[in-house]
Amino acid sequence: MSFDEHRHSAARLTVLSGPSGVGKGSVKALIRERYPWVWFSVSATTRSPRPDEIPGFHYHYYDRAHFEKLAGDGQFLEWAQYANNLYGTPRGPVEERLAAGYPAVMEADLQGARQVRKAMPTAQLVFLAPPSWDELVRRLKGRGTEDPETIKRRLALAEEELAAEAEFDHTIVNHSVEQATEELVSLLSSPVESSAAC
Ligand code: 5GP
Repeated sequence: MSFDEHRHSAARLTVLSGPSGVGKGSVKALIRERYPWVWFSVSATTRSPRPDEIPGFHYHYYDRAHFEKLAGDGQFLEWAQYANNLYGTPRGPVEERLAAGYPAVMEADLQGARQVRKAMPTAQLVFLAPPSWDELVRRLKGRGTEDPETIKRRLALAEEELAAEAEFDHTIVNHSVEQATEELVSLLSSPVESSAAC
């Protein structure tokens, strides 16, 4: 499929959310590889890069003062504190992408997803869920990028996020990266219902 086939007069924003360790990063990586027409917002964060992360591709890494300045200037579509760090979606690139008629995908935690719901009612909110709680714990610990204290904090937040699943328009259970990727891409390709478009 060519890029132009994914242009739509009512291009919409999709928010990908889900607990830490559920596999959002792996799904994004496979989509980037297979479906180059899918555009992902690059979030800003105050957390330090993980060893395998590339600045400007996985995140924009800012110090807290710079992040807070951008937030104060209204440069984020949404932003939130998650654990001890700030995360936000730069507004400009998302708005440009949608204005050009292409779908846009952004990642956000629960607080960010709620902000987008209010600011852009036509956005679709997608929750990526683990097959089970034990599997989530196994994945989060197994990735080996967080210390035990951080894992504990992230699991506490995961409980809250899982309890809010009903707020999302769609849930995809991540049984495998392959299956979750295909389900997400089919949601991105689905036309916006005219009642939802504005
Ligand atoms: P991580 O540190 O594991 O990359 O991300 C921590 C949490 O922040 C995850 O739940 C992730 O989805 C969320 N997150 C990533 N980017 C953004 C963003 O732009 N805004 C918000 N609100 N959360 C984000």
